[in-house]
Formats: sequence, structure tokens, C-alpha cells
Amino acid sequence: MTSPHSAQRGVSTAGPAQPVETVDVLIVGSGPTGSAYARVLADEAPGARVLMVEAGPQVSSPRGRHVKNITDPEARVAAQTASQGPDRSARDGDPVHSRPPGVMVRPGTYLLGDKASGVPGEDGSADGTVGMPGASLSTNVGGMGAHWTCACPRPGDGERITDIPAAELDTALGRADELLNVTTSAFTDAPFAEEVRKRLGAELDAGRKPERRVRTMPLAVDTWSDGSRHWSGTDVILGDLAEKDTASFELRPDTLCRRLLLEDSAAVGAEMEHLPSGRRTTVRARWVVVACDALRTPQLLFASGIRPTALGRYLNDQPQIVVAVRLDPTILAAARETAAAERPDATFNPVSGVSWVPYDHETHPFHGQVMQLDASPVPLDEEVEPGSIVGLGWFCAKDVRADDRVEFSATEVDGFGMPAMTLHYQLTDVDQERIEAAKTAAARAARLLGTFLDPRGPRRLPSGSSLHYQGTVRMGPADDGTSVCDTYSRVWGTDNVYVAGNGVIPTETACNPTLTSVALAARGAQDIARRYREENAHVS
Ligand SMILES: Cc1cc2nc3c(=O)[nH]c(=O)nc-3n(C[C@H](O)[C@H](O)[C@H](O)COP(=O)(O)OP(=O)(O)OC[C@H]3O[C@@H](n4cnc5c(N)ncnc54)[C@H](O)[C@@H]3O)c2cc1C
Repeated sequence: MTSPHSAQRGVSTAGPAQPVETVDVLIVGSGPTGSAYARVLADEAPGARVLMVEAGPQVSSPRGRHVKNITDPEARVAAQTASQGPDRSARDGDPVHSRPPGVMVRPGTYLLGDKASGVPGEDGSADGTVGMPGASLSTNVGGMGAHWTCACPRPGDGERITDIPAAELDTALGRADELLNVTTSAFTDAPFAEEVRKRLGAELDAGRKPERRVRTMPLAVDTWSDGSRHWSGTDVILGDLAEKDTASFELRPDTLCRRLLLEDSAAVGAEMEHLPSGRRTTVRARWVVVACDALRTPQLLFASGIRPTALGRYLNDQPQIVVAVRLDPTILAAARETAAAERPDATFNPVSGVSWVPYDHETHPFHGQVMQLDASPVPLDEEVEPGSIVGLGWFCAKDVRADDRVEFSATEVDGFGMPAMTLHYQLTDVDQERIEAAKTAAARAARLLGTFLDPRGPRRLPSGSSLHYQGTVRMGPADDGTSVCDTYSRVWGTDNVYVAGNGVIPTETACNPTLTSVALAARGAQDIARRYREENAHVS
């Protein structure tokens, strides 16, 4: 915190090299879930002093702004590059450290690296069922939330967390919709999309509940008065807190939390390092929230000596099937005809929304999304009419197992000097069946729309490509060794340590997880706010 604030927070010093400051809540990690904690605490416990630390740099302004909103292409690339962590060797296109076959590195992310991600073949299997070669991270203010696609579907059927009462889960999901500014109406003028949904719905809606029929994907995006789109980064979640620090909130970039400090199973604070200067400080806190992503949240708990049996286990990533389709000329013609009749003066928006084929346990146990490919960050080889080539992404739920895990070393360290990770990950026979079924379902959907761009048809991306890693600090109803935290995200046995992020999600989900993890974060933050208000009720 800046020095005037520090004075209010009762800064003292313990020895010459370790300044100590005191806050009510320390949040580690500035992605969507850490930011949700900050926002809800500011709203519901306005007197609470909150410090958020982030290992990465601020790459956009206001803080956490989505980099897609940066209009200058050079500035956007600089922001993406600055998000790629300490070890640039894992970056896309690096000539020395080649990417594993088929692995795509998304702008703003970097690969965990060969050893850590458990290369295919580690157990002799060369068929890509072992390891998670696509495992990626982002290290910057806003985390992956400054780079994401903003798809925010609600989980349905078996994807839902049943340990939280249904009405409470729905309320939390509603709060997450508000925090992320989710809408379904940002792209009503997307080229051909309505016709695409009509064709898919005609075949795939049979047997589905009304709310699980083919529809537009809820997206975290705003349309400004000049018609431009503003994609939700964590600036949208933080609101006024994104602009500047206040008397009760500070966001401190370039600051790594090395370990939590414990006394009698309660956290009393944490040790920080300002990475550019190497300066170490201690923060004392009444509550600590660890929101460091699904791989680094368990890493920080491990580094702090908090090691419940389930820590790092149940790691899961949604196997992802992709296929690109050239839309059938009849779809293009029908869409043009409708547009001419209904909107004679309108031009097609060159940037697309996303169509959604929801997960439906009975009829379609996959999460399907259809996107305009010429608007994707991965360039097409040919000039195409906007919207006339679409990409189908079909996500499967993983067969979740305790053996799939991130393991931390007690002796080796990563590029930040934190315990080195090794991922142990395998697709099971059940996964293989689901993947084959998803390929069939994606091929069926693709044929309803046109012809495969690549005649080989649907293919599976290498494990880790979904960027939706879950389960590693999962919640559960009881401290029975199969979960790390309770249904308010409080780590078992610690009283005041909360975990946040996709790692908290315990269920086999197929849909994009951020809406759910922001909902769980809002619920955890409300728990802290309630406790803060109770403890401070006597102070007027
Ligand atoms: C290209 C792309 C597209 C995506 N599309 C979607 C989508 O459409 N829908 C969807 O639901 N999800 C999507 N995701 C995933 C989504 O971005 C994540 O689910 C979300 O950002 C997770 O939020 P989080 O707060 O848990 O973690 P993160 O956003 O990963 O943030 C964690 C932060 O913690 C910091 N940190 C880690 N360790 C420490 C430490 N020890 N000390 C201090 N700071 C630390 C990291 O630097 C990081 O900034 C996408 C991701 C990418 C990259």
C-alpha cells in the first residue's frame, strides 16, 4: 500500500528487512475470482481494508482491462507478451523450445512447459492420452480474465454443484452475471448466426428443456453507444476499484505471495516479494483468499504447509473436439434474405458472437459452441466472407479421478522460485468413449451446417487446451479427504483461509467454468463480509 494508506493500516516493522503491515483481507491473485472477492467485500463490508497482490505486471488501463479492448495492435501485443510470465522459453514460436505437436498457445498465455505438464509418452503411451501438454497460465493483473473469450454459459443438469442448495447456487450465478456484465444480446447482427442456430435447433432441440435449447451464448461484453464492444476484463468486476486505490483497497502488481504464515492452523498473514526489487514484506491479515488459478492455488497452499489429502488432486480439463465448417450456400442465402427483409439498411457486424448447444445430460452430454472463425485470434489461410466459416468446439466432461493431479516438489522450484509442478494426467477408457461420442456429435452438428474445411473432420486438441482446469482445491460437504474446502470455499481446518478459482469446482462440467467460479467467489466473499460485519458490529 502507498505510505499514506499504510499509516492508516497500522504499519510497523519487525526487524530491519521485513516491514509488516496489517489488513483485514488479503487476496492473492487478481483474476476474475480474486476480483470478485474484492468487489463483493467493497460492497458488503465497506469498512474492511483489502489488499490484493498479483505476481504479474499491470498490462492495461484501467487495471485488468481486457486486452481485446486495446485498439492499437502493437500495444495489444505488448500487453499479451507482458502477461507471459518469467520464463519466456515456454512462449509460442520459440525456436529453442518447440511446442508439442498440435498445441496452440493463446495470446497472453504461456505453456507450463514440457516437464511440468507431463509429456505424452511418460508411461510409454504415445497416443496423447497421458500428460497435459497444453497446460497454460497467464501472469498479469487480471490473470486470464484479461485474455479470455468471455463465454459465460450456466451449468446445467449434472454440471451443477449439488452440495449448494439450488436456490443459493442460482442466486450466486445471478451475482456472477452482474459482476461480469453478461448479456445474450450483444451480437444480434452477427452474420449468419441466427440461421446457424435455426438449423442446429431444428435437429438438436428435441427432448431438451426449454432453457437448454440451442441459443446465443451468454457473453461478458458490453455494447457502447458508438456500437463498439467492450469485453469484460477484471476492470468490469472491480468497477471503481479498477481506476485507483482507495482508503480501503489496494491492488499491488509485480508482487508474489511466497507463503501464508500460520499460527495454530489459522493464517495470520503472508510473506510477499516485490519481484522487480526483490524486497520482501510481511502482511498480517484476518482473512486470506488464495485466488491463484487451479494450478498455483494448490501450489501456494503446499508452499505454506497446508496440505490436505485432496490438495492438487481431481485435476481435470475438459477434452475438447474441434472442427471447422464452410457454411452451406443455402444458409448464406437464407440469412441474406432474412436480413434484407427485416433489416434492409443493416450491414453485418464483422465481429461475431457465439452460438451455444448446451450440455444436456440425456440428449447431448457435451457443451457445444459455434464461433465465427474469421474473427478468431488464429488467422485463416484464406480471405473469406465474414461469418461464412465457423468453428465448432465440443467440450466433454472429464472422468474425474483422484490420481489426476498436480504434484509439487519439496526441492525443485519453478521460474518464480515456487515449488516446481509435475502434472500426472490420463484420459481413461470412459474419457475415450466420451471423446468418440463427442466427435460423432460434433460431426453431426457440422454436417447440419455445411462441409468440413479439413476433410478429416473433428479432432481432439491436446489435453490442457481448454484452459478450464478444475478440481485441484475442490469443495465438498465434509472434510473426508476428497475435498479441500467447504461449500463456502473455506479450507478445511483453517477457519480463515478461502480458495477461489476453477480449482474449487468439484463436478464434472463440460461448460466454460468462469461464471461458476465467480459465483462461488461471490458466495465466499459474502461469508467473509458477514463475519467481518459480525466481528465489527460493536464499532460504529
Ligand atoms: C484465451 C482464453 C480464452 C478463455 N475463454 C474462456 C471463456 O470463454 N469462458 C470461460 O469461462 N473461461 C475462459 N477462459 C478461462 C478463464 O479466463 C479463467 O477461467 C479465469 O480467468 C480464471 O480466473 P481466476 O481468477 O481463477 O484465475 P486467473 O485468471 O488465472 O488469475 C490468477 C492470477 O493469480 C496470479 N498468481 C498466481 N500465483 C500467485 C502468487 N503466488 N502470488 C501472487 N499472484 C499469483 C496469476 O499471476 C494470475 O494473474 C479463457 C482463458 C483464456 C486464456
